[in-house]
Amino acid sequence: MPNIPMRDLRREYEYMKDDIDAAIAKCLQHQRWILGPEVEELESAVAQYLGVQHCVGVSSGTDALVLSLRALAIKTKGQEYFDQHDTIITTPFTFTATGEAILRARATPVFVDIDPRTYNIDPLKIKDYLESDQAQSAVGILPVHLFGQACDMDAIMKLAEEYNLFVVEDVAQALGGKWKEKKLGAFGHAAAFSFFPSKNLGAMGDAGLVATHDNELAELVRVLLNHGGKDKYNAQHLGYNARLDTIQAAVLTAKLHYIDELNERRRKIADYYNEQFARNPNVSIPTTAAPAFHVYHQYSIIIRKGNRKEIKDHLRSASVGTAVYYPTPLHQMGVFCGRFVSGESLQHSEQVANSIISLPIEPLLPQNSIDFVVATTRSAFN
Ligand SMILES: *Cc1c(COP(=O)(O)O)cnc(C)c1O
Repeated sequence: MPNIPMRDLRREYEYMKDDIDAAIAKCLQHQRWILGPEVEELESAVAQYLGVQHCVGVSSGTDALVLSLRALAIKTKGQEYFDQHDTIITTPFTFTATGEAILRARATPVFVDIDPRTYNIDPLKIKDYLESDQAQSAVGILPVHLFGQACDMDAIMKLAEEYNLFVVEDVAQALGGKWKEKKLGAFGHAAAFSFFPSKNLGAMGDAGLVATHDNELAELVRVLLNHGGKDKYNAQHLGYNARLDTIQAAVLTAKLHYIDELNERRRKIADYYNEQFARNPNVSIPTTAAPAFHVYHQYSIIIRKGNRKEIKDHLRSASVGTAVYYPTPLHQMGVFCGRFVSGESLQHSEQVANSIISLPIEPLLPQNSIDFVVATTRSAFN
């Protein structure tokens, strides 16, 4: 029986082995481990790929979010952190780090509901909130392109302009994704990318990156990631050690050459799953809202009939990996208790969290494995 994990990093490494080994060998030769030349190489390569002015490598996707927000507090308020009454609008249906970053920048998250078809923040709900009385304190919007699918960036940027808000995109799951012809991460004032090993472009450890068109924000992020000073021994701001490792940058630049090919493979697998599950009354397939170019970091379906745990167990007993992203929306987590505002009902986020399941979409899986996932998923409902 085949073993089909959610992600197969060994398979990916074997596929790119020569490129990755050569990139690492080069680092072993020069031994410039801290902000070595590979960091700048990755930054220019990603900037060119995205069509943005600046990219700044950092130590993780979470740090990319925190540093973007800190840089915005310094730029827009002239202070190190936001004030607690400054609110940032985001989705509760995301990974913890999105909301955590807002708290760590000392602002308050406002959770508004998702569109249950795309799983992404609903721009109409953002609008409702901004038109309400409590909205004067809003300073920004933090949309998450969840599972690799673009948020409606036309609507979000329009609202941001109208209400004078900044936009920080969380692109941790969507490198290579697009809205119309523009790459995600090129819309907001800043954008945060993660290269956590399981992401579409994964490092061999933790890594992340901030993209921005804004010279001042890029400079501030550069300063913050290296202890808060242009001069290391004379700090201006309360900084971090949040540098991107040289060796991770080398691996990432080598792997970046494959990103479009691998995203295309993910899209093909998703199309096939969609075909196979479209008329299955037990599940709802993910909706792709054109003109979003979806890069399927996850392929997630809604279970309409049946018990999620039993379906998961059935697939596990056939050695098919599944995962629940995410079982608990942020507004129900202890860490956010008493520290967020909610626009209104968050029922779609709660319903989706209770019924969603992700199937393997490892881009290098052979067709017979994909067929096996389809057959096993079907039989799980019998
Ligand atoms: C992975 C992820 C992050 C955090 O990235 P790390 O590199 O793990 O710190 C943030 N937001 C979302 C939506 C993510 O999926």
